[in-house]
Amino acid sequence: MTEPLLGFIGLGNMGGPMAANLALSGRPLICYDASGTADRAPEGARHAANSAEIAQFATIVFLCLPDGPIANQVAAELIAAPGRIVEVVVDSTTSSVNEARATHNLLATAGITYVDAPVSGGASGARAGTLAMMVAAPDDVFARLLPLLNPMAKNARHVGREPGQGMAMKLLNNFLSGMAMAATSEAMAFGASQGLDMSTIIDTIAVSSGKNTAITDKFPNRILPERYDSGFATQLMTKDLTLYVDSCKNLGAPHQLSETLLQNVWRRMCNEMPESDFTEIYPFTIKFNG
Ligand code: NAD
Repeated sequence: MTEPLLGFIGLGNMGGPMAANLALSGRPLICYDASGTADRAPEGARHAANSAEIAQFATIVFLCLPDGPIANQVAAELIAAPGRIVEVVVDSTTSSVNEARATHNLLATAGITYVDAPVSGGASGARAGTLAMMVAAPDDVFARLLPLLNPMAKNARHVGREPGQGMAMKLLNNFLSGMAMAATSEAMAFGASQGLDMSTIIDTIAVSSGKNTAITDKFPNRILPERYDSGFATQLMTKDLTLYVDSCKNLGAPHQLSETLLQNVWRRMCNEMPESDFTEIYPFTIKFNG
């Protein structure tokens, strides 16, 4: 019997290189992207004309789509496909906890298992196969998936068994990342006002208690050399933080700091510098918050 194909829908900045790493690991793949599959699919992968064709040939389908409502729409297309053989949908879209649960509930009506598996590590991590992946799945499903996840995400973690727990982990991570960037930018501006050199601050905080990912990565690699090229857009950070604050509100969790961070920093930056990379938070802080 021929091996069923793996399906991949959404071949953008993240999904494109993730699918390429899956294909490189020798798995037979069928891919689809609404903006054009031929110029986005990895070499050797079969091209589908739509999501329904993926559903006809793949038992496990990966999604990496712009947002939760689109993932839900694609899930509905998979369910409606005539002759579908889909058993598991692995969703690496970043969406809210409730959106993930809605997609889980929809797929469950068709006997399809939903696994939320959002990622962290940016386009460079996707290309290198070093992504962190936050997977919520029953134990046996995670064990079955892990060999497929490893080529895309060296740092796959089984964070829970309930739908939405992967999204919760991803959103709280991005809250911390966004807070580290905003707080470090303010601290840097204060240091500069006192005549402290940026590289001296980075070097000193990296061995002190204020250490965080802005200090160990974004400031030395993207901001100090004025490259601002993390590949993670301010719009995406604002989207993720909005999902986080909304999830906190819907689920009754504390959100004082995250709401302040969203309203006073990232949403303002999104309005002032809509096309910016999120590492431009430092020039934004100096220009608009002085
Ligand atoms: P992207 O916009 O580059 O890619 C999304 C792709 O989905 C596009 O190619 C688009 O054509 C395709 N698409 C849209 N609707 C479709 C549909 N109905 N059917 C098939 N294809 C469709 O986005 P990205 O940067 O790859 O991000 C994907 C997801 O990963 C988002 O949810 C994002 O929040 C998350 N994420 C992004 C990053 C990052 O650094 N870019 C990091 C972590 C997580």
